[in-house]
Amino acid sequence: MSKDKKRILIIGQGLAGTVLALELLEKGQEVTVVSDPEIKGSSWAAGGIINPITGRKMVKTWNADELFPVLKEFYKFWEKKLECEFYHEKSIYRPFLELSDLNDWLAKYDNPEYLNYVEKVEKKPVLENKLVNPHGGLLLKNSGYLDIPVFLNNSHRYIKERGEVIKSEFNYQDIFHSKNHITWNGKEYDGVVFCRGAKEADSEIFGWLPFRPNKGELLNVKLNLDIEFGITRGKFLMPVKHGFFKLGATYDNHFDHEEKTSEAREKIIEDLKNFLKADPEVSDHFVGIRPATKDRKPIIGKHPKINNVFIFNGLGAKGVSLSPWCAKELSDQIIKNKPIDKRVNIDRFFSLLR
Ligand SMILES: Cc1cc2nc3c(=O)[nH]c(=O)nc-3n(C[C@H](O)[C@H](O)[C@H](O)COP(=O)(O)OP(=O)(O)OC[C@H]3O[C@@H](n4cnc5c(N)ncnc54)[C@H](O)[C@@H]3O)c2cc1C
Repeated sequence: MSKDKKRILIIGQGLAGTVLALELLEKGQEVTVVSDPEIKGSSWAAGGIINPITGRKMVKTWNADELFPVLKEFYKFWEKKLECEFYHEKSIYRPFLELSDLNDWLAKYDNPEYLNYVEKVEKKPVLENKLVNPHGGLLLKNSGYLDIPVFLNNSHRYIKERGEVIKSEFNYQDIFHSKNHITWNGKEYDGVVFCRGAKEADSEIFGWLPFRPNKGELLNVKLNLDIEFGITRGKFLMPVKHGFFKLGATYDNHFDHEEKTSEAREKIIEDLKNFLKADPEVSDHFVGIRPATKDRKPIIGKHPKINNVFIFNGLGAKGVSLSPWCAKELSDQIIKNKPIDKRVNIDRFFSLLR
């Protein structure tokens, strides 16, 4: 194998493992992905929402100016290459909670900081017979959703054709280390990248990192509502096809089991009433554990003590927006040994490893 062609083993096939595998293949590397279909990752429960202005205070999401151009280019590129649609640009409407929000946004919406993300400030209520928005709201652009199952399924087909996909549980004890390689399943690799999502919190090699797993639940619902934009106000509602919506999600840091609950389902429906005057019919209910971290930033890079072992984790509640940019950072490190952006580099936590 030529020096610039590395053979990389990726553990996990959620958003992190999949986006990284595509990025490495595109950069001419060899990839084997190992994933256990019995372990349903958080990616399969996610709403896929891409939202540049988030939180009660409506602030620009972390690093949006770097993340958003990269994610758009990435998903559009792969839509073409995989010949299917999964990246759906849609405006998102955010009803103002108070009159002061309207005044704040009238003052700042044409600020260059927000030009790329704000389509319009609605000064008057829109669709008043359906939406609760007495003070108007903010219409966002460069937003939308990723149809994650379509993206993952088609990517997995492609990765299988160009690389190798092994459906199996991975056990760390099965790896053998030498100075420049690791060996797994009788084959040598230049590196292994752990993309195991929230499961990494119990890991014997990365368990010292400050993970804060967060349980989330989401519903698929049917509604008598004809809108082309998503809505977010505490919960999000995203139209995916005529009359069908994704509605979510809950956030729970103190969960004691990983199953879905009727309480979460009722809470989501209750919160919908804060902004919508319509009754949803639930058609599906999902649950997952978000791989969140103490400082709410991704954790990527090389293990401080074990050669050729990497991690790609901490995508938290924003895996769709974060993963393409993080995969570029990590793949450049793996291939060219380029330093990773310090805000997401695992080395910010090295002092925690004794
Ligand atoms: C209800 C809910 C709603 C969400 N909504 C959004 C949203 O709207 N927008 C957004 O951007 N993000 C959202 N998220 C967050 C998003 O799901 C995560 O950021 C992202 O999916 C994490 O991807 P990951 O690949 O790191 O982990 P995961 O998707 O959890 O993948 C981990 C993978 O590792 C594999 N694995 C683990 N252990 C082993 C092992 N021992 N052997 C083999 N394989 C193993 C699993 O099988 C899986 O394939 C939501 C999450 C939840 C729960």
